[in-house]
Formats: sequence, structure tokens, C-alpha cells
Amino acid sequence: MALLEINGVTKRYGTLEVISNLSLSVDEHEVICLIGPSGCGKSTLLRCINRLEEISLGEIRIHGDRITGPGVDLDRLRRDIGIVFQGYNLFPHMTVLENTTLAPLKVVGMSRREARDKAMAFLERIGLAHKAGDYPDRLSGGQQQRVAIVRALMMDPMLLLLDEITSALDPELVAEVLDIVRDLAARGMTMMLATHEMGFAREVADRICFLQSGTVYEQGPPAEIFGNPKGERTEAFLRSLK
Ligand code: ADP
Ligand code: MG
Repeated sequence: MALLEINGVTKRYGTLEVISNLSLSVDEHEVICLIGPSGCGKSTLLRCINRLEEISLGEIRIHGDRITGPGVDLDRLRRDIGIVFQGYNLFPHMTVLENTTLAPLKVVGMSRREARDKAMAFLERIGLAHKAGDYPDRLSGGQQQRVAIVRALMMDPMLLLLDEITSALDPELVAEVLDIVRDLAARGMTMMLATHEMGFAREVADRICFLQSGTVYEQGPPAEIFGNPKGERTEAFLRSLK
């Protein structure tokens, strides 16, 4: 059974159809990269998956359980599906440690000590343990984004959604964030990421999905999509980046 199944999902904003009858399934441990022109629906799709947006038609399932429609425990859902955005969205009035332990303390009632130990272990792993007591404005953009990833990992999500997480960063800070994603992929984390970093997508993804006007226009292994795209639009998009 797939970890994530998106079945015939349509999302409209008023009369504007942003996602059109899109179906996609993601297996456990798979890394999927969503690519495509600005406005093709990458962010909207990710936001629908953890219910920051409500879909108009279709359904989404996690391990076979429907997570769209009424009667879904959204706290539980957002524990299972972590999301990290382009802007790091850390709380400015909280330290790194407070940012990363807030949800475990509040949402799952983890003990203060356990939350702290867990956060420190993650921060250690990404080389930021020494920043635990600092406020976000004392960190570089790359460091803040790494902390945002740790914050998502604190809930042991079964799926991690990453939306252009390097787009707001100075070029020299991109690598340190991508290193973490690479490490997570090696550890078997299931991830779906929207990215403009084609070199990285090629390296880390098991499958590339090229979106066009809210549908999956073409998908396949990176070597195929980047090396020998079948669709005219995929080819044109990739050519436009060169
Ligand atoms: P991408 O992430 O691929 O650049 P988005 O998912 O952000 O694309 O946007 C897809 C389309 O949906 C765009 O046309 C965008 O203008 C539109 N859109 C996104 N969010 C909203 C919203 N809250 N209200 C109306 N239109 C929106
Ligand atoms: Mg986007």
C-alpha cells in the first residue's frame, strides 16, 4: 500500500482551477520532487496534503486512511505530515530550543526533558547545538531553515513536505540546507519537495513529477525526465532553465 495516495484531486480558488484532477501516489521511503513553472500548483498541492488548504474534489489518503473531508483529526494529521516553507517561519520571540520543543510540549505532551533531549540530539546532528539558546535573528537564513526542518522532525512525521526551502537563501547557504535533505533521504524519510534546484532534484529524487497547469504532465526517474523528457512541455521547461 502506498504511503500517500492523491486521487483525482481538484482545487479551485473561486473559479480559478489550480489543481485539476490530479492523481499521484508516493511509496514509503520515496523522495518525490515536484518541478514546474511558477504558478503550476506545487505549493497548493503540498498545502492540500496537510490540510492548510481544502480540496474541491477528490480525496487524499495516508496508509489507506482518508485525510480529506470531514471527521479528520487535524492535529494528528499534522503530526504525521511535517511541512517546511520557503520562509523559515520560526517564532522570533522564542529561542531555537523553544521553537523546536513547542509542538512536542503543547501538542503531544512530551515531557520537558524528553523534548529538550530530542531537540538537542537533532541540533547536534546538524551542527547547531551551540545555537540552542539563541533567538532566530542571531542565525543565518540557512541556519534558520535547518532549525525549521528540525522543528518538523520533532514530531517524527511519516511524510515530510518541503516547499522551495532554499529559495529565500543566499546561494552560499543553499548547500547546508540541501545536505540535511540528502541526509534525511539516506535515512529513508519519505519526502515530497517542490524545488527549483534541478541539480539537487536529479541527485536526491527517486521520481520527478513535472506539473503543468495543476496536473502531472510527466513523471519518471530523474535520469529519464532530465536526460530524455518525453513531453514537449517538460522539454521546453527544462530548456528554459538553461
Ligand atoms: P507554484 O507553487 O507552483 O508556483 P502555487 O500553488 O503557489 O504555484 O499557485 C498556483 C496558482 O494558484 C497560481 O495561479 C496562484 O496565483 C494561485 N493561488 C495560490 N494561492 C491562492 C489563493 N490563496 N487564492 C487565489 N489564488 C491562489
Ligand atoms: Mg510555490
